[in-house]
Amino acid sequence: MQQQTKYIFVTGGVMSGLGKGVTSSSIAKLLQIHNKRVSCVKIDPYLNYDAGTMNPVAHGEVFVTEDGGECDMDIGNYERFLNQNVTKSHNITTAQVYSQVIEAERRGEYLGACVQIIPHVTDAIKGRIRKIGQEENLEILVVECGGTVGDIESLPFLEALRQIRLEDGAENVMFVHVTLAPSLDVVGEQKTKPTQHSVQELRRIGIQPDMLMVRCTRPLEDSVREKISHFSNITARDVFSCHDVESILAVPKVIYDQGIVTEIFRKLSMEAPQEGGANWKEWDLIVDSFRKNGEEVKIAMVGKYVKLPDSYVSVNQALKHAGAKLGKNVKIDWIDAEELNGNVDSLSSYDGIIVPGGFGERGTEGMIKTANFARERNIPYLGICFGFQLAAVAFGRYVCGLEGANSSEIDPSTQNPIIDLLPEQKDVKNKGGSLRLGSHEVNIVENTMASKLYKSSKISRRHRHRYEFNQKYLEMFALKGLVFTGHSDGKKRMEALEIPSHKFYLGIQFHPEFSSRPGYPEECFEAFVRASSS
Ligand code: GLN
Repeated sequence: MQQQTKYIFVTGGVMSGLGKGVTSSSIAKLLQIHNKRVSCVKIDPYLNYDAGTMNPVAHGEVFVTEDGGECDMDIGNYERFLNQNVTKSHNITTAQVYSQVIEAERRGEYLGACVQIIPHVTDAIKGRIRKIGQEENLEILVVECGGTVGDIESLPFLEALRQIRLEDGAENVMFVHVTLAPSLDVVGEQKTKPTQHSVQELRRIGIQPDMLMVRCTRPLEDSVREKISHFSNITARDVFSCHDVESILAVPKVIYDQGIVTEIFRKLSMEAPQEGGANWKEWDLIVDSFRKNGEEVKIAMVGKYVKLPDSYVSVNQALKHAGAKLGKNVKIDWIDAEELNGNVDSLSSYDGIIVPGGFGERGTEGMIKTANFARERNIPYLGICFGFQLAAVAFGRYVCGLEGANSSEIDPSTQNPIIDLLPEQKDVKNKGGSLRLGSHEVNIVENTMASKLYKSSKISRRHRHRYEFNQKYLEMFALKGLVFTGHSDGKKRMEALEIPSHKFYLGIQFHPEFSSRPGYPEECFEAFVRASSS
């Protein structure tokens, strides 16, 4: 018989941005290290159906799963920490739950009942969580509830989690609450009041947390831990210090050293972990590789959403993965493409240049000039999705002399649409969930830089685009020295471009960053960082 899945519910207090995602990933990682079958779920209580239509500057990157989900960026943290793919069902939103309930009501499935938040909406939430545990045969599922306790939007979710604890029993369900102990200046004392209040708020809705993860700049002082313990009705050994560390990958060890694994096993009535039974070796090696401070490699990332580095979190991480493996210290400067336009010369001090994904017109002239500058100055260039498309536009304009060359996304009336709408997108009206999404196979042309770095004639990578290279220009580009070295769907679309005479000039239509993991950098990034440091 299938084992019942146990749940760890992670809630957040005080304010957003405390690192609930990293805390949840770290807990899951520790359980994985202790040989448990574990995964993570993110609940997003907002009314968007998914993250696909959200501005990355406000919410961070849109992370794409293999099955084409446009998810919250925390899903990326789970995949990277656990080195394990998750499906889009792991990102639950209010819109998904309510749509499900409303559709069932329209089909008449509630048999005349008055449809209500309790029990119908909460049942739908519980059903979604339990289905993941069962279908994936998990021993433990870590479920992170987005937002801050006290928000109106998260109430139905917290109520559903409370019910699961009641139904499945305290030996199968525990609550972890992430809070903050701020200190007002460097030597100032760590304040406990925000934590006290947020635990009270949680208790008011019927949830007594079993553990507190307290974010702080310096390790939590013992007296502060005691105080929090008293006021929150939680033993001091269940109050964990989540102080700042040099890298998010160091967080699992920080909480492990405070005894979190023993406590979780005890609370969830699992047999205590055997001495030496944990599998630390691989993770330790990976974390260590990030500590070495090798030669600095300066990368310019020229994009539109630079005000929040989290807009490109997977690209940032992928570069770090590559740096760690190669023993290089990758330093990234995020540069606003809009401000750069006309002054690309300032990019000459960088070892490598990236133009990442993006949408819409703003900043594109700066990105096109950047792609051209990297080509002219023989500076390693990696163009991802939009960066691939705009590199092709730049080549059309500056090498082939094509008047007004552009992407029809930017200039719908351009006489030279180097990048044009995917044919199957012509009648698409809805913006949400309608891009070409998720994993698709890409064929790699032999004897090219792409084939050298992928060492394979076929790869599978995640996509998120509506436009593509217009093959009308294929021959002209080849004659001028730019070749397409990756394609898909029986050569219907171009997926990679290179300039063989250049030091490293690679554009890819797919998103390699979503496949990069600590210890296992995606091939493009490794090759790009290597080229940038040579
Ligand atoms: N805006 C471009 C497209 O839709 C590129 C998308 C992206 O960079 N993710 O095709």
